[in-house]
Amino acid sequence: MSHVFHRSLTAAYPVAVGGDGPYLIDASGKRYLDACGGAAVSCLGHSDAAVIAAVQQQVGQLAYAHSSFFTTEPMEALADFLVARAPEGIDSVYFVSGGSEAVESALKLARQYFVERGQPQRRHIIARRQSYHGNTLGALATGGNAWRRQQFAPLLIDVSRVSPCYAYRNQQPGETDAHYVARLGRELEQQINELGAENVMAFIAEPVVGATSGAVPAVSGYLRQMRDICQRHGILLILDEVMCGMGRTGTLFACEHDGVTADLICIAKGLGAGYQAIGAVMVSAAIRDTIRDGSGFFQHGHTYIGHATACAAALAVQQQIEQRDLLANVRAMGDLLQQRLRQRFDTHAHVGDIRGRGLFVGIELVQDRASKQPFDPALRLHARIKSRAMQAGLMCYPMGGTIDGQHGDHVLLAPPYIIDSRHVDEIVDKLGMAI
Ligand code: PMP
Repeated sequence: MSHVFHRSLTAAYPVAVGGDGPYLIDASGKRYLDACGGAAVSCLGHSDAAVIAAVQQQVGQLAYAHSSFFTTEPMEALADFLVARAPEGIDSVYFVSGGSEAVESALKLARQYFVERGQPQRRHIIARRQSYHGNTLGALATGGNAWRRQQFAPLLIDVSRVSPCYAYRNQQPGETDAHYVARLGRELEQQINELGAENVMAFIAEPVVGATSGAVPAVSGYLRQMRDICQRHGILLILDEVMCGMGRTGTLFACEHDGVTADLICIAKGLGAGYQAIGAVMVSAAIRDTIRDGSGFFQHGHTYIGHATACAAALAVQQQIEQRDLLANVRAMGDLLQQRLRQRFDTHAHVGDIRGRGLFVGIELVQDRASKQPFDPALRLHARIKSRAMQAGLMCYPMGGTIDGQHGDHVLLAPPYIIDSRHVDEIVDKLGMAI
């Protein structure tokens, strides 16, 4: 019997022992095409020679130095690289070990910013019902997934929720994008007015919703409008790009698609691509300056902030993506993947929606297309698709989410940026069998 306290204490997992480009290999030699990057992590596949060399070099030179004593070359270089490519106004980076820590740090940075500005009452967060922001207590309190929060309530922070931008389910027939966006804007304004703008700290959103709902991009104009509303009321905008950032949607930052910037941007997953555990919060100059000119010290910290080897790995990952122009491949293969999925599933009775951006693609399953009625959650359809796909040698990321009180099964695809058209065909064939 295994002595690992695994996610599931009843399931049996194959033992992963190796990687070959976009494939993972288990102890029996079976190969699995990694069509979800684990959880949108492994964007360079599993055997990138340049990243492996960078990690080996850094471990040999200096694996780790605690951030309360030193800065390091890889941490400085990675921050320079990211800020040079970041949306307008972002000017510094706080490195952590993963996505939940990035969100947790963003929430505390936002809070400290207002405390230092003499507005401690600004502590309320507005999030969206369709969202996942992580599993640490603050991030969990913020996320929209009611069943994840349920058994840990009461949680520590105050969060109100507004509707997601989810065209397939919530845009009314005949309603234009502009009217839909305006309706969601009115809902946010109303929430702000009810709380009193002077009490609201931040609005947090994923530009393309990931884990809870299978790659749901906001309709055009939505992010800009939310940004404008936040600015009008002095509320910080936190974009959670932990899953959709770092090139996943075909631009380095997902918010570039809408030409929008934020006060805080959380990144992780594709940053280190799984070669090391790393995440970060990217911070606006206004927040950085307020804390620098105030107490001068962010009242936070983790042992592995700016881990030298993690930063060296992430820098090598990002350089590979840029030098090999992999974002062009993300856009081309993403379009091809959606096209092939439509060819395969457009007449499938239970495939309600195919959507996404770049290599971040979702399929939503319904009982029938006309009613869009989700399947009974007791069927655990998503879990059955996952296990069928694994049998066929395909890793995909199915989830049964709770969205505005509705249960919906969907499959998220987030393959490595290095795939070619043969991998696209293999994904569609094997997924077709599994569904
Ligand atoms: N935010 C988003 C949008 C995520 O998708 C995730 C992970 N699925 C997290 C935060 C939490 O990241 P981690 O699991 O690395 O803590």
